[in-house]
Amino acid sequence: MAYFNEMMEASLEHLDAEISALISSELSRQRTHIELIASENFVPRAITEGLGSILTNKYAEGYPHKKYYGGCEFVEQIEEIAIERAKKLFGADHANVQPHSGSTANQAAYFSVMKPGDGMLAMRLDHGGHLSHGHPLNFTGLMYKITAYGVNPETETIDYDEVAHLARESRPKVIVAGASAYPRRIDFARFRAVADEVGAILVTDMAHIAGLVAGGVHDNPTPHSQFVTSTTHKTLRGPRGAFVLCNAEYARDLDRTVFPGVQGGPLLPAVAAKATCFKLAGEPEFKVYASQVIKNASALCAKLQEKGLRVVSGGTDNHIVLLDLRSRKITGKAAEKALEAAGITTNKNAIPFDPEKPMVTSGLRLGTPAVTSRGMKEEEMSLVADAIDEVLSAAEDENVIRTVRARMAELGAAFPLYESI
Ligand code: PLP
Repeated sequence: MAYFNEMMEASLEHLDAEISALISSELSRQRTHIELIASENFVPRAITEGLGSILTNKYAEGYPHKKYYGGCEFVEQIEEIAIERAKKLFGADHANVQPHSGSTANQAAYFSVMKPGDGMLAMRLDHGGHLSHGHPLNFTGLMYKITAYGVNPETETIDYDEVAHLARESRPKVIVAGASAYPRRIDFARFRAVADEVGAILVTDMAHIAGLVAGGVHDNPTPHSQFVTSTTHKTLRGPRGAFVLCNAEYARDLDRTVFPGVQGGPLLPAVAAKATCFKLAGEPEFKVYASQVIKNASALCAKLQEKGLRVVSGGTDNHIVLLDLRSRKITGKAAEKALEAAGITTNKNAIPFDPEKPMVTSGLRLGTPAVTSRGMKEEEMSLVADAIDEVLSAAEDENVIRTVRARMAELGAAFPLYESI
């Protein structure tokens, strides 16, 4: 009994020093590095409280007021609040806040309306699409007949005429709009017109831009799409997780597809944290944040271009800057490694028509959601761009790496993170 009580009340540090120390090391990494991974962010401490809560003890299969377990009176209120907030934030008829991840949210949307062997038209992975948009090793590539659209080789932006042409030829059941590495605005009305013309259903995956949509600085795909899927952990600045919005006519199918179709019980700590995330994203301060994310990306982009770096599509409209490193004679893989050593976290990324393999690449994806959450503005983006330029010009020079790393740690220290943790 004594052991049980002590174990139940002990801190992680006391009970599992190894894991506790690694979490502390990760906190210190987040504080000292400049985080430019476009799909990452820093959540408010309140979000971590929901995630770390005793809600993890509860099972709640099913939907509010139709749960398969007893004792759900509080957790179903949490879920209802999350649903209502998501609907209000994006202007949707219906929301399902249970999907554990973006890939599962996509799976749920597809399974709601598609059968194995049906056709899907989605963006090529090597032009900016996501694995769950038809990669051969993903369930989408294994289950559906995939036709892929890409970007125009000249403009490096989505070629809507090509989308329309491919849609007419392949007559897909579903057209997917949305991407993981696309720095430009997406024209959802145009996608919907193509979908309507060929009798397809439009699924928009707004995982990357959900925060920009919530903040009113990117068009909202909801009025144009039958389904909208999203993660909550990117620009939306919420917990790792996802949700799906849909038109009223698909609500029943969607809910049945999420549970019992592809998931069992929802992760209630994440559902609570999603509710808080939707609340915060609906506040006026979030609009300021979202517009600063874009201003920071534009500033970072302009300064890197000034330094002679080529930016895919010639600029950015959102939070992403996609660099073509070929003129610097360095691969994405080597650049990611050198920048990491210099205290700047990024990820290698294929650029359209990339001659390098996916694990090497000629590109680097940068994004501003996380640095903006830390309070950085255009001035700091200029310092970061200088640092990136220096490292890319001398990736093998240990002195350069060391001095940039010290500068970046100093910059990080000027924007304190999680002081109360
Ligand atoms: N959709 C898009 C456009 C993404 O960029 C991602 C993740 O990067 C996902 C879906 C998948 O999200 P998750 O990693 O939560 O499965």
